[in-house]
Amino acid sequence: MSRTEEILRLLKGADGYISGERIARELGISRAAVWKQIAVLRKKGFSIHSQPKLGYSLTFSPDRLMPSEVRDGLDTSVIGKEVIYFPETESTNLIAKKLATDGAREGTIVIAEAQTRGRGRLDRNWLAPPNKNILMSVIFRPRILPSRVFLLTMLSSLSIVKAIKETATLHALIKWPNDIYIDGKKAGGILTEFSAEQDRVSFVIVGVGLNVNFDPSLYPEIKDTATSLSVAFGKKIHRVKLLQSILREIEKGYNRLKKGNGFQIHNEWKTYSLITGKPVRIISSGTVEEGIAESVDEDGCLVLRYKNGKRKRILSGDVSLRLTE
Ligand code: ATP
Repeated sequence: MSRTEEILRLLKGADGYISGERIARELGISRAAVWKQIAVLRKKGFSIHSQPKLGYSLTFSPDRLMPSEVRDGLDTSVIGKEVIYFPETESTNLIAKKLATDGAREGTIVIAEAQTRGRGRLDRNWLAPPNKNILMSVIFRPRILPSRVFLLTMLSSLSIVKAIKETATLHALIKWPNDIYIDGKKAGGILTEFSAEQDRVSFVIVGVGLNVNFDPSLYPEIKDTATSLSVAFGKKIHRVKLLQSILREIEKGYNRLKKGNGFQIHNEWKTYSLITGKPVRIISSGTVEEGIAESVDEDGCLVLRYKNGKRKRILSGDVSLRLTE
C-alpha cells in the first residue's frame, strides 16, 4: 500500500478527526510528510478538512478505484483481496500476466484509470478516457483443462451483467464470445488470456473493459456502435460500488466453478445470450459463414446451423460475429 493509500485508510477509519501527529506516529513518518500526502490526496479530488488541534477529517471521496476505496466494505475472501492500482498503465492484462508469472496470488486484481495500450481481441484498440470506466484484470489459478478456460470468460461476463442489473437496474446481454451489450450497443468487452503447461492451466487472466461514465458519442470510431452504463441509465454510476458488485459476483461464480458446478454458470449465462436463435455472420481470417446461432456449449463453442440444416461447432478464438437481422 502506498503512503497516500495508508493515510486514506487512517482517515477513513477515524471517527471524525485524526491528528497529524497520530498519523505520523502510526506510519513512522514526519508530520511534514503527512501534510505533503494530504496535499496529494486533495489534488486527487479528496476533500480533507483540517482543524487546528483536532487534525484531519475526510469529508468527500471522489469515485476513484484506488485499493482503499475498492477494499472498503468488500467482503470477498479471494477475489480482490489484493488490489494493484495504476492511475495509468500500458494494459492491465499485461501487468496481470507479469504478476501471475511471478507468482501473484489468485484473486489479485489489477486496475487502471487509463491505459496507453488497451487492447481488445486480435490486438484491437480499446478506448477508455481516464477515470470514467472500469479497466480491470483478474488473476485466476483454476484447476481446469485448457479446453475449459472459456468458463472463466462466461463467469466474468455473467458477473458483469448481474452487477449491472444490481447497480444500475439495466438489463445487459452477452454477445458471444466476449462482449457486453446494452440496448443493442457494445458497453464492454472481455479479453481472456492464459498460460498452460500440457494439460494444466497455470493461470488465467480475465481483462474487463466496461464503459461506465463514458460518452462514446465523442469518439467517431465507436460512436454508432458503443454505449455506456451512464448513457443507458441516464445518470452517473458509482464505479466503486459497481466494481465491488462485479467482484462479489465473480467470487460467487468462481466458488461454484471450484465445486465442479460449471454447468450452473453455463446455464445462467445462456439466459443472457444476445445471439441465441438469431441469424448471424461469422467472420474468421478471410472466410465468412452465415447461419443461425443455435447455442453455445459449455466449452464456449458456438453451434452454427446452416440453411441446409447441417451444424458446425465454432471455436471462440479469433472470430468476429455480426447479427445479420
Ligand atoms: P467485434 O465487437 O467487432 O465483434 P471483438 O469482440 O473482437 O469485435 P474486441 O476486440 O473485444 O472486439 O474490441 C475491440 C473493438 O471494440 C475495437 O475494434 C472497436 O471497434 C471497439 N471498441 C474500442 N473501444 C471501445 C469501447 N470503449 N466501447 C465499445 N467498443 C469499443
